[in-house]
Amino acid sequence: MADTPKPASAAPTRRKAGRHRGEGQWAAGHFTPLNANEQFKKDDDGLNVRTRIETIYAHRGFDSIDPSDLRGRMRWWGLYTQRRPGIDGGKTAVLAPEELDDEYFMMRVRIDGGRLTTEQLRVIGEISQEFARGTADITDRQNIQLHWVRIEDVPEIWRRLEAVGLSTTEACGDTPRAFLGSPVAGIAADEIIDGTPALEEAKRRIVGNPAFSNLPRKFKTAISGSPLLDVAHEINDVSFVGVRHPELGPGFDVWVGGGLSTNPKLGVRLGAWVPLEDVVDVLEGVVSIFRDYGYRRLRNRARLKFLVADWGAEKFRQVLEDEYLGRKLADGPGPEAPARLWRDHVGVHRQKDGRYYVGFAPRVGRVDGATLTKIAELAEGHGSGRVRTTVEQKMIILDVAEDRVDSLVEGLESLDLTTRPSVFRRGTMACTGIEFCKLAIVETKGRGSTLIDELERRLPEFDEPVTININGCPNACARIQVADIGLKGQLVTDADGNQVEGYQVHLGGALGLDPGFGRKVRGLKVTAAELPDYVERLLTRYREERQDGERFAQ
Ligand code: SF4
Repeated sequence: MADTPKPASAAPTRRKAGRHRGEGQWAAGHFTPLNANEQFKKDDDGLNVRTRIETIYAHRGFDSIDPSDLRGRMRWWGLYTQRRPGIDGGKTAVLAPEELDDEYFMMRVRIDGGRLTTEQLRVIGEISQEFARGTADITDRQNIQLHWVRIEDVPEIWRRLEAVGLSTTEACGDTPRAFLGSPVAGIAADEIIDGTPALEEAKRRIVGNPAFSNLPRKFKTAISGSPLLDVAHEINDVSFVGVRHPELGPGFDVWVGGGLSTNPKLGVRLGAWVPLEDVVDVLEGVVSIFRDYGYRRLRNRARLKFLVADWGAEKFRQVLEDEYLGRKLADGPGPEAPARLWRDHVGVHRQKDGRYYVGFAPRVGRVDGATLTKIAELAEGHGSGRVRTTVEQKMIILDVAEDRVDSLVEGLESLDLTTRPSVFRRGTMACTGIEFCKLAIVETKGRGSTLIDELERRLPEFDEPVTININGCPNACARIQVADIGLKGQLVTDADGNQVEGYQVHLGGALGLDPGFGRKVRGLKVTAAELPDYVERLLTRYREERQDGERFAQ
């Protein structure tokens, strides 16, 4: 690591310290780090840790890793230490980081737009089996996460990923994270505009670019030209949503400032229409505003949503146009209401070229390396070389000829990857939870899977869309705030007065054109053991008492 602090590489120099000094904004001339995170980023760019991993840590082992790399910069390459096994959730907030750290890593493979070839999927499957004890989870940001990775194996894993065009670059850290994209971009019959060229250009210009590798916090981007609004655009830092301008034609409507976790906020429209060829200029402008004006004093106020909330959409657009683009953007319309409630592309759907895409549902995003390899084999055996991941922890095989669809569906079913899932399998998501996550208080994936089984058995007739999102802690990795039933992991008191794993219930959240955050139901906490009973009661009561036209998902 560099001994001498460097000036931040991309910091603007045109302003003097001013009234925003208290928020630590670079644009106000404030370059002195105000907390430990800002300090380690100033000391050395997170991207630089790669050289140390390859030349030192992978050879000398876990104990040789500098703590500021271990718990800081390694994220810039998609690596987090995972939770030491056997530590219960009650100790999460009590133990020091080094007591929670296991010597194995979670590695997040960045999959921009959820776009994978079958060759890439095979390589991830092989890496999972060889280096990650077979683990592989599909995240709600279209990435794939591996666990049990040893530092000694990281350079070889990178070599294999990069040989097929994949990477872990900036998959975590205070960086532009993987870009969400419509998983059916370029093929969907109802598409407004294909955002793929912008997504590919964004990767070339932004990922691994030192100009954007020291942001105040993570930065999330979504690009979709699908009328289904299939990338959760309301809760990203910046989103480009396909719209038809009455005079200018197909393009993108720009949203900024969405985000969950602390003080969740929905994104706001700038009211600007952007043609495909200008998307990355605007994206760079928004990331640059975040880098320069974003709040760096307090980490829990460092997301773009706080700046957008303080400025408002009008000022944000004006700064973007005047200081970063040097031109005005055209005004434009917002998106129309999507035609379907489910936006995950599960099932069999006709493509615009006459072939079909087939979406299927693993349980709560959990697959494994062997299954990924079999999915690649199945796809290739049915004429497809392309696979996609979705923001609902689902997968899609593209480009299947009509006469091969039934056989593919059968093959997927034999892997427990159904194209006709129950509403419960389809609508349930879960974060990593206590199995691997150091911030977790409770278990999530196993509980989610059991809940699906129980609800399928108890309520076989229930067929309305319902989303059940399960988090292992108060963070938002499984988007509990925007689920019909959001379950926030915490310790609760059971009937015998014992502290046990359970969930605070949030009800009535939604994404879509009528988005909102679920209501935290005061005092409504369920133990993990009571969870199936509680959800069954809730859904049964709704079915018995609902009015005509009322849906569970509002
Ligand atoms: Fe970990 Fe909490 Fe995120 Fe779940 S929500 S993965 S427990 S930080």
